[in-house]
Amino acid sequence: MAQQFFSRRNIDFLLQEVLKVEELTQYDLYRDHSPEIFALSLDTISKLAGEVMYPLFQEMDKNPPRFVDGVAHVHPKVRSFMKTCGEGGWVNPTMTYEQGGQQLPSVVNSALMFIMGAANFSLSAYLQLTTGAANLLAAFGSPRLQETYLQPMLTGCWQGTMALTEPNAGSSLADIRTTAEDTGLGYYKIKGQKIFITAGCTNATDNTVHMMLARIKGAPAGVKGISLFVVPRLRVDDTGLVSNDVICTGIEHKLGYRGCPACQLSLGDNDDCRGYLVGEPNKGLTYMFQMMNEERVNVGIGAAGKATAAYYASLEYCRQRLQGRGLSQKNPESPQIPIIEHPDIKRMLLFQRAVAEGALALCLQVSKYIDLARIGQDRERHELLVDFLVPIVKTYPSEMGILSTSAAIQCLGGYGYCSDFPVEQYYRDIRIDPIHEGTTGIQGQDLLGRKVTMKRGKAYQYFCEEVLRTIEEARGDALLQPYAEALEKSLQVMNKVTTHLLQYAGQGDLELFLGDATLYLELASILAVGWQWLVQGLAVRQAQDTNGHGQDQYFYQGKLHTLSYYFEYELPRIDSLSRILTRGTGMISQVPVTAFV
Ligand SMILES: Cc1cc2nc3c(=O)[nH]c(=O)nc-3n(C[C@H](O)[C@H](O)[C@H](O)COP(=O)(O)OP(=O)(O)OC[C@H]3O[C@@H](n4cnc5c(N)ncnc54)[C@H](O)[C@@H]3O)c2cc1C
Repeated sequence: MAQQFFSRRNIDFLLQEVLKVEELTQYDLYRDHSPEIFALSLDTISKLAGEVMYPLFQEMDKNPPRFVDGVAHVHPKVRSFMKTCGEGGWVNPTMTYEQGGQQLPSVVNSALMFIMGAANFSLSAYLQLTTGAANLLAAFGSPRLQETYLQPMLTGCWQGTMALTEPNAGSSLADIRTTAEDTGLGYYKIKGQKIFITAGCTNATDNTVHMMLARIKGAPAGVKGISLFVVPRLRVDDTGLVSNDVICTGIEHKLGYRGCPACQLSLGDNDDCRGYLVGEPNKGLTYMFQMMNEERVNVGIGAAGKATAAYYASLEYCRQRLQGRGLSQKNPESPQIPIIEHPDIKRMLLFQRAVAEGALALCLQVSKYIDLARIGQDRERHELLVDFLVPIVKTYPSEMGILSTSAAIQCLGGYGYCSDFPVEQYYRDIRIDPIHEGTTGIQGQDLLGRKVTMKRGKAYQYFCEEVLRTIEEARGDALLQPYAEALEKSLQVMNKVTTHLLQYAGQGDLELFLGDATLYLELASILAVGWQWLVQGLAVRQAQDTNGHGQDQYFYQGKLHTLSYYFEYELPRIDSLSRILTRGTGMISQVPVTAFV
């Protein structure tokens, strides 16, 4: 039997039983859709993932792109994959019909992205970046730019990228130095360098469209002087496609995520790199935040996918591997048992499942908020909920996914460390996720420094209300009641910590306020995923009430066991984080740099 890398049953459970996505079809935007159409999309992508993407998962890792004659030569199947996605309408499924899309709800699209990420994250990245770039262009580009660049991207013929990072500007985009000089001829002359640009220059498509940040000459310093440009690798002129003076100077040699290159680009070495302004000057970062937020959610979804695939690979091994005897079995002649019977292995499997399925539940929940905001249903509330949750959705699957894929390796013992089994690759592949699209450190500062305080704490308040609503509902169920109470206590702890930290902000002491923002993010993430486990618990209880104990009984039982694991082993970590966060000593800030000897 082919290796399982995700659970369709779980996706159906989350979409139908937890999030009730069919309710979205009552709104005009999604009226043409139905549960059958959603299922058809899931079937199609599951087939693509199983037949095309997963078989290339290890092959692409073992044969990474080669840098030849200024171009990254990638696996030959990337080209046909992009074409297939273009033909199937998978580059822009969420765009409107007028834009050539399918008006598919984000929540369904996120489930599709999850399946692709679980099958082959590197391959899915080519598609995802093209989608993000196309969405950005569709939102803010002029009709002329859209006419020229959108169609070839949507058909999978041209690759899209996001080109932000420079040697001196990674986390700190305020320090971007790439310049743009207005020629007065409808284009700007671009000069500078970009690094780490994913799929930045490959032979998989006929052209590359960079959504690039640059600074117009004379613009204010910092983020207020950054503009957004379309910078194609080959530009369109009367004769067709000609060089646009975008030179790829090399590609990185990476720990994982090896099927997709990170490229170094040099722009305007021959004074002939043209960039086309998107929207208004100096508003580039605001526009780019649309793509960054989309990609941050995608990072979480991709990480949940990798963690899920690693879980299933380790689960299969644990069922088959015979080793040792039960803790109370003293007879050395008794047969060895499958390792899945050892409590320590069960713990590691439960941990993986709690992380992977909890992360996916949260990603889909946020995607549904995106849909509700898009259709104008209580728009402000849902937009603020998305804003608040983006750093959490980006970080929890990424950081905890590293630990859960590590647990997958541990389940396999020595074989887990070797490349005959896929788990070591998941571990390497997922390591990028806390780094790209804003590091965990930056996400922590975003959550505590911006999101908690935005609109006078409204986003935070809405989040607490959502959690409290679930708590109230779960209180009425005898089995879930203790979990509801535990989550309520944890929410009180989070409120206490938040109030405590905000005091420092009020006093203007930013070192004490933000010094441990990463730990605050960790605390908030544990709480948010606990909330999602309780939400799932409610759906399970409802299903058990109405469906009795049909063929799904093991699935539902497994959910409740994992919920119970989460509340007994993961949620209590909030207490120790709270103690650290409210100590108020600023211990780390006080350590002088000279102490690091
Ligand atoms: C494989 C790969 C693919 C990528 N793809 C793309 C892409 O497609 N497009 C693109 O534009 N970029 C891309 N990047 C770049 C990526 O987004 C950056 O690497 C990331 O934002 C971090 O920037 P940096 O590497 O310069 O690290 P730095 O910014 O130097 O950070 C180093 C460390 O310092 C910490 N740090 C930095 N500033 C602060 C601060 N103010 N407070 C607290 N801690 C701080 C960081 O959290 C981090 O731990 C990619 C990177 C990789 C490795």
